[in-house]
Amino acid sequence: MTAPNRTVTVLLIEDNPIHARLLRGLLDHAEGQPFAVTAVETAAAGVQCLAHQPVDVVLLDLVLPDSQELETYVRVRAHAPETPIIILTGLDDTDLARHAVEAGAQDYLIKTQLNATVLTRSIHYALQLVRARRGEWQSPMLRLAQQQFLKAAHLLQLDDNVRQRLLFPQRSLVVSFPFRRDDHEQVDTVFGYRVQHLTTMGPTKGGIRYHQDLGLGDVSALAMWMTWKCALLQLPFGGAMGGVRVDPTDFSRGELQRLTRRYTAEILGMIGPERDILAPDMGTDEQVMAWVMDTYSQHVGHAVPAVVTGKPVVLGGSPGRRDATGRGLVFAVEEAARVLDLKLAGATAVVQGFGNVGSSAARLLAAAGLRVLAVSDVSGGIHNAGGLDLAAVAQYVAEHRLLAGCPAGEAIANSELLELPCDVLVPAALQNQITADNAGRIRCRILAEGANGPTTLAADEILAQHDVFVVPDILANAGGVAASYFEWVQGTQNLMWSLDEINARLRRLIAEAFARTHARAQRDKLDMRTAALLESVDRVTRAKLLRGLFP
Ligand code: NAD
Repeated sequence: MTAPNRTVTVLLIEDNPIHARLLRGLLDHAEGQPFAVTAVETAAAGVQCLAHQPVDVVLLDLVLPDSQELETYVRVRAHAPETPIIILTGLDDTDLARHAVEAGAQDYLIKTQLNATVLTRSIHYALQLVRARRGEWQSPMLRLAQQQFLKAAHLLQLDDNVRQRLLFPQRSLVVSFPFRRDDHEQVDTVFGYRVQHLTTMGPTKGGIRYHQDLGLGDVSALAMWMTWKCALLQLPFGGAMGGVRVDPTDFSRGELQRLTRRYTAEILGMIGPERDILAPDMGTDEQVMAWVMDTYSQHVGHAVPAVVTGKPVVLGGSPGRRDATGRGLVFAVEEAARVLDLKLAGATAVVQGFGNVGSSAARLLAAAGLRVLAVSDVSGGIHNAGGLDLAAVAQYVAEHRLLAGCPAGEAIANSELLELPCDVLVPAALQNQITADNAGRIRCRILAEGANGPTTLAADEILAQHDVFVVPDILANAGGVAASYFEWVQGTQNLMWSLDEINARLRRLIAEAFARTHARAQRDKLDMRTAALLESVDRVTRAKLLRGLFP
């Protein structure tokens, strides 16, 4: 499904004014999905438009004043080789429309049978098909993860067989499945993924993400980072990741539950407490984990809490898991401040993203004595030079879901927020936020990456020139998987640890991983990201070489 909040540009080539008005009306009033429609009446005008403006999808009538039948399709296709074309046809012209589909059009729609659902769904699926054809692996995130890995492999002079093996995930499953929206007439088909990057180290472990832009490439990148994260903390797991390409923000609870249960059923053969253990990531939470656990347990016939972590405490979840990623990040910031001789009491912080990671990190940074100047989410940010009242901000978000309009501070755009002068900057939302374009304007002392992959390699070099100390994602946000490991150990052995015990173990794991990384960075004169990657890749390589090659 395409993101409901992203405008899809539609070129409508239709000479009949009544039909054109009808189609435009359907798209203008379609629920959720904004469409920007450009309407023209001839093939020549259509071709002209394609040459001068970006078009996501073409709606094409084949019989036009200046072009007839299949020739119309061929002319338009020649000017839009990659763009999905949906044919608009009358009931008596369906043979012609079928020929156009044979020639490469994505779909055909009979004009007299159109309604908004049929039309918008056809557009969504056409866009999906084009994406699948272009290659699910195409992803800036995967390119970033692979570039980082190749840099580490080069520095380690890694055995080439191991290098090739680790560059792509070991197992990838792509599923497409239907799930019923609340409006029972509508059944949406969506794409889901589960990727296991490496099964050498033990069971695989990784989150599930529900996001409208998710693809196999992104999931693979996240699975690879998870391998490095587990290796850096010396946890007995390989990396995995999964998710569904949907925007869950407007889903009802029932829809979210049906989607989750069906997705779990689709990936059932790959997961299990000794195979592959799931956890929350963007767009998923404790409740989603409870549904995954229940679906898995129903299939095997007994309760299996350890198939997921990050589940509610009453179902065997671990106290402290909800805050663990943010807490681990604050522990890592404390270690960084120690080596930089920076006093955290009275220092300032800025946090991008106010979800699970960002809101915990902001609250715990404040608890550690920092003044949190600004926070943001997808709706924008708020800034208060005197420091935000985070309890009031959290209360506002609990009531309004988003930060927009929160009176605790002045509105600030996400891009400006990243450039605020501060001691500690925490990107805790999306990937690719700090790039060569803005890295020169980042004015923090410590960049602690709550999100996965928020910084590009080119930006890393600029940050190093500006003396920004980067605590890389595989260290800064590893608190989540560390606490998940504690939850899994408790689940598989029926242990019950207290919150204090868990937080103490978490602090130790993060501090030790930080110390190993920092020592390597000092010894080999490397930045922290490269040092962390070398530690991880080294460990995984030793394990691979010891296990040998089967058969
Ligand atoms: P979440 O869904 O709970 O929160 C995401 C936050 O980012 C929300 O506040 C959302 O509004 C905001 N956001 C989305 N798009 C944005 C944009 N374009 N600009 C600014 N803000 C935007 O997700 P989360 O679990 O907090 O995950 C955030 C990041 O941390 C992701 O990169 C995830 O992979 C990473 N991470 C999460 C965990 C975990 O335990 N949840 C662990 C390790 C890493």
